[in-house]
Amino acid sequence: MRRKIDPDQKVTIKIGGKDRLEFKLKKVLVPPGKKISLKKDYDPDFTDGYKDKDAARDHVEENVNRLSDLQEKLYAQDSYSLLLVFQAMDAAGKDGTIRHVMSGVNPQGCHVTSFKAPSAEELDHDYLWRIAKALPARGMIGIFNRSHYEEVLVVRVHPEYLQGQKLPPEASGKDIWERRFDQINAFEKRLVENGTVILKFFLNVSKEEQKERFLDRINEPDKNWKFSIADYKERGFWEDYQSAIEDMLNNTSTPWAPWFVIPADHKWFMRLAVSETICRTLEGLDLKFPEVSKARKKELQEIKKLMEKEDD
Ligand code: ATP
Ligand code: MG
Repeated sequence: MRRKIDPDQKVTIKIGGKDRLEFKLKKVLVPPGKKISLKKDYDPDFTDGYKDKDAARDHVEENVNRLSDLQEKLYAQDSYSLLLVFQAMDAAGKDGTIRHVMSGVNPQGCHVTSFKAPSAEELDHDYLWRIAKALPARGMIGIFNRSHYEEVLVVRVHPEYLQGQKLPPEASGKDIWERRFDQINAFEKRLVENGTVILKFFLNVSKEEQKERFLDRINEPDKNWKFSIADYKERGFWEDYQSAIEDMLNNTSTPWAPWFVIPADHKWFMRLAVSETICRTLEGLDLKFPEVSKARKKELQEIKKLMEKEDD
């Protein structure tokens, strides 16, 4: 599916029956082929001036039901699959967003994979090997909590990881990131052309908000488990990450698999934007339960008669 993307198109979200939010798609989408600036073009604090958190939360609940119905059809139709990619700086809220937005989906139709530093076995293969193994089957929703994009983010910020990948000299070299962008685009294109719908979300939290969330994790004993010193160390590389992220967005937002940059300083807005994007994309597929053939209808009626007789 090659979606038509008009960055100037207005997104209108009705909350409680009224048009409450209305903003241009490019506020949250990276237009394929256009150069964006992460800092200038995407505000982590953006809510379109909307403030009613409770109403927004209710709308996310409605979207949870909407998504549950759509997922049932996706599964029954068994033709498309949906891949949701989540990337973010630490504490942006990947886990919470996945938990909230997917809470109504039948667990049998959905699979979450978290990608951590690669294992020895994974390092013995090319970087897309473990990704390919985790892709959703037809009818399924696959969620990537981190993804192949770590290969142009953390690996770029910390080149020592690249050394661990044991690449031959002709596969490394200066233009490696450009080549990886091309490889990723080609990989995703093949998937999309064969029935996988891909949505990529970068949850865009500000440095100040990340600090607040880290401090919360330190101050509240029940949140201490969420805080790791490694996260604090990565914060020291903030600017390196921002420029790697910007380059990733500029090179891998494609007509077949665009990037959404979701403002993440307000969790309620982030969840609203993510759930709305997923629902609208699935609605655009015009999913249908499979048609029942005449022969099958007849067969079902015959079985019904047999069972009714059983009751006598
Ligand atoms: P949370 O902290 O919310 O549980 P997380 O996704 O941050 O979730 P961690 O176990 O803290 O999970 O971190 C996983 C780490 O693995 C991240 O720092 C990430 O950058 C790293 N990672 C993922 N893929 C790769 C890769 N291909 N090469 C090197 N490091 C990677
Ligand atoms: Mg972490």
